[in-house]
Amino acid sequence: MNSRSTEEQELTGEDLRVYYQVLLASFGERGWWPADGWFETIVGTVLAQNVSWSGASQAVRSLKDAGFLDPAHILQNSPKTIAPLIRSSRYYNQKAERLQEFVRFFFEQYNGDSTLMNKEDTSTLRGFLLELKGFGPETVDSILLYACEKPVFVVDAYTRRIGSRIGWFDADISYQQMQDFFTIRLESDTKLFNDFHAQLVFLGNTICKTRPLCSSCPLRKMESKLSCRYVKPVDQKEQKSRSKIRISHGS
Ligand code: SF4
Repeated sequence: MNSRSTEEQELTGEDLRVYYQVLLASFGERGWWPADGWFETIVGTVLAQNVSWSGASQAVRSLKDAGFLDPAHILQNSPKTIAPLIRSSRYYNQKAERLQEFVRFFFEQYNGDSTLMNKEDTSTLRGFLLELKGFGPETVDSILLYACEKPVFVVDAYTRRIGSRIGWFDADISYQQMQDFFTIRLESDTKLFNDFHAQLVFLGNTICKTRPLCSSCPLRKMESKLSCRYVKPVDQKEQKSRSKIRISHGS
């Protein structure tokens, strides 16, 4: 049971920055998104849907080797030509259609000019992208943050798992509520949002897994207000009896 009071649980932006600094000090800057340029980033966000990053990055490499990391080239070719190149990303027929859907929009709306697209008002661009078939909030927000460098906080399944375990929010919170949790507390800061999300993905991927490796977690030993609810604090009585056992073993 959680013993922290409601008042104690009310986290501030400063508190969130403390979590971020602890992650940064442990893992170093993550350098996201791992791509050469904005279009490769967008291709990566689409191909990474519902698949491991290794499957997605293999598909990105394959497109690159075939000279397809170019919006005009994708536009000029049919999804049937693109799909075999991205097999490792699973659902490759759908994803080939999604890439085409994006480039068609990009040429129709912005004449194939990424500078024009990046100048677009963030919520207008977000609205346009969400209308594209197969582009959900996580994909769209990743495009806005990592390709267009807009200050949009991306949340995902890792954020949900880590945040609900620490006690930031409940596990059944909506995408929008989870995103609001960060954006109402933190000032708009593209650099911070970029690396904070990347740190949470790294933590969720390597330590806070389905079966968490809490003993290796940098967030395990936070001051009490920020401590992780999932890690049961050692009861003082239990601690005393443990030391007695140690003493009696030693004597
Ligand atoms: S202490 Fe454990 S449950 Fe909490 S964030 Fe770290 S790995 Fe996850």
